Amino acid sequence: MISVFGSVNMDLVAYVDAAPALGETVTGRAFSTVPGGKGANQAIAAARAGARVAFLGAVGDDDFGTEMRGTLAEAGVDVTNLRTVPGPSGIAQIVVDGGGGNSIIVVPGANGAVTAPTEAEIEVISRSDVLLLQLELPIEAVTAAARAARAAGTTVVLTPAPVQPLPAELLEAVDILVANEHEAVAITGQADHERALKELRGTVGWVIVTLGARGALTSSDDGAAVWVEAPRVNAVDTTAAGDTFVGALAVAHVEKQPADQAVRFATAAAGLSVQRAGASSSMPTRAEIDRSLS
Ligand code: ATP
Repeated sequence: MISVFGSVNMDLVAYVDAAPALGETVTGRAFSTVPGGKGANQAIAAARAGARVAFLGAVGDDDFGTEMRGTLAEAGVDVTNLRTVPGPSGIAQIVVDGGGGNSIIVVPGANGAVTAPTEAEIEVISRSDVLLLQLELPIEAVTAAARAARAAGTTVVLTPAPVQPLPAELLEAVDILVANEHEAVAITGQADHERALKELRGTVGWVIVTLGARGALTSSDDGAAVWVEAPRVNAVDTTAAGDTFVGALAVAHVEKQPADQAVRFATAAAGLSVQRAGASSSMPTRAEIDRSLS
């Protein structure tokens, strides 16, 4: 089983020709509300890829909270221990302009109110094979969850996004770190992702740096970095490609797939997701991943 201790946001997406300047009002072309947040995205990706998944985190006591709880449950994610806290749910207000560029305001809402895992949540984490963590919850809460997992022997997978300084007590409790190129360089201060991987490998057992259309670089047991190519596909929307990668990787790890095979499984899942628009709606099912690997 996989547990996710992470964020859930309602993405409020407005499509415009040109984003408004300060003080300006523009008329948009379209609008949609889409459940997102890195935690929820990774949970749904893992459930679609074939694992039992429990989600730990918080929604507000508003309509968005009710809807996001429903979306996770419909995707097969266990939301029994998802907290409802007074106040608004987390939102991301996104403006997408005619050129595909975007600007985003995240208001953490209920995500910002998440504290260290409760006893019931620690019990779920302890029963899990893998715990997925990202940095959209308060870092003290994330660190406490990582340490609880480490104490129970649950494998901890961290996505260090949004990028921020990582406390040593968090990094020490991480078994698998999956960072994109920008994150890997930012958290180490190294000049390039290969050096960043080498440095991170000093603390974390398994480090993967994702490289967009180029695939991923993964550390191997003998310390060398191995490049796994991404499938060549017609990418139409890379939203949540990284979250799909992590969700699928966790599933492969639970199934005890060897490391190189697990990275290929994750790369195949992410490669399928970029061929469709949307975040959770673009994530492939297990049958689709298996078919693309055969
Ligand atoms: P995002 O923020 O969009 O979720 P990310 O920046 O965290 O993504 P990336 O390194 O861009 O992470 O992508 C993650 C993985 O998704 C890559 O390792 C690759 O396997 C897959 N991927 C991304 N873009 C493409 C693409 N154009 N073609 C094929 N695979 C892709």
